[in-house]
Amino acid sequence: MEYVTLGKTGLRVSRMGLGGIPIQKIDAEGTKTLLHKLADRGVNYIDTARGYTVSEEYLGYALEGIRDRFIIATKSMARTKEAMAEDIEKSLHNLRTDHIELYQVHNPSMEQLDQVQAAGGALEALQEARAAGKIGHIGLTAHSVEVFARALELDWVETIMFPYNIVESQGEELISKCEEKNIGFIDMKPLAGGAIENGTLALRYVCSNKNVTIVIPGMAEEKEIEENIKACLDDSPLSEKELEEVQEVRNQLGTNFCRRCNYCAPCSVGIDISGVFLFAGYLNRYGLGDWARNRYSSLAVKASACIECGKCETRCPYHLPIREMLKECAQQFGE
Ligand code: SF4
Ligand code: SF4
Repeated sequence: MEYVTLGKTGLRVSRMGLGGIPIQKIDAEGTKTLLHKLADRGVNYIDTARGYTVSEEYLGYALEGIRDRFIIATKSMARTKEAMAEDIEKSLHNLRTDHIELYQVHNPSMEQLDQVQAAGGALEALQEARAAGKIGHIGLTAHSVEVFARALELDWVETIMFPYNIVESQGEELISKCEEKNIGFIDMKPLAGGAIENGTLALRYVCSNKNVTIVIPGMAEEKEIEENIKACLDDSPLSEKELEEVQEVRNQLGTNFCRRCNYCAPCSVGIDISGVFLFAGYLNRYGLGDWARNRYSSLAVKASACIECGKCETRCPYHLPIREMLKECAQQFGE
C-alpha cells in the first residue's frame, strides 16, 4: 500500500480508503469481514456519515479489536452548535470509540455555510470537540464548485471532499489549489455513484491526478478490494486504449446523469427517484433490458406517478431536470 499525508491534518493515510455508503447494503458481520480484509491489505482510512443510516453502527461493531488500525472520518448535516454536538456524541457511540480523527461538515449550501460559521453554529461544537480530544481534525464535503471555492479560503477547513471522476471534472482546478494550500483532497464518487461500470478504468483515471490525496470507492464485497487496490496503485500513465475508453464513457454518460446520492429524497409521492434512473440506465446503456424492466416493475411507485411538484429538484446538488427525466423514464418503461 502507498501512504500519503492528508494535507495539514498530518494524518498518514492509504491512497485508497473505504467509502462507507455501500455498507448499508450488507450487514454487521459482512462489514467485519470487509474491514479485516482491508486492514490486512494496509487500507487504513474509512469514510462514513451520520446520514448513511446503519453505516456508523456496522463499522463500530466491525472495528472492535482493530480500531487502532484505522483513521475514521465521518460527517454530519447538522448546522447548529447544539445539533452538531449531539451528532458528534452519536457518532462516537455508534463507532464505539472515544475519538474520531476527522469530522466533516456534510455538504452545506452557501447559506448553510454562513450558519455553520456564525455564533451558535456547528463549527463551535466541532472546535470544542477538537479541544476536548473527541475529534482530531475538521473538514468539509461539497457537491457545488461554489462551496468548494469558498472552503479553500477558510482557515478551519483541513480537508475537502468533492466528486471527481471521468465524467465530473468541474472541480479539477480547485483540486490543484488544495495542493497549494496544503488541504487534503478526498475524492468521492470516483465511479460517479456507480454510473461508470469499469471500476478499474475509473480509479486509474482519478489516481493519475496526483493532486488527489486519497480516493474512497464504495466497497461492500471482498473481491472489489483487490481490484480497486490494484487500479489505485498502478501509476503508469493511461494508455491510448484507456484514453479511448475514457472518451467512450464520456460520450455515453454526458452530464445529465444521476449520481445516486439520494439528496433529492423524499419524493412527495414516494417515487424511488435514483432507483428509477438506475434501472433506466441499465435499460439504455448496458443491454440489460429484461433485468431493468423486471426490477422497474417491482417498484411500488412508478415514474408516471410524479405530480411535478418540483421539490426534489430543489434538493438535487447536480440541478438535474428530474421531472423531465422521469417523464422520459415513464415513457421508456411504459408506466
Ligand atoms: S417532482 Fe415528482 S419526483 Fe420530484 S418530489 Fe415531486 S412528485 Fe416526486
Ligand atoms: S436525482 Fe440528483 S439528488 Fe437525486 S439521487 Fe440523482 S443526483 Fe442525487
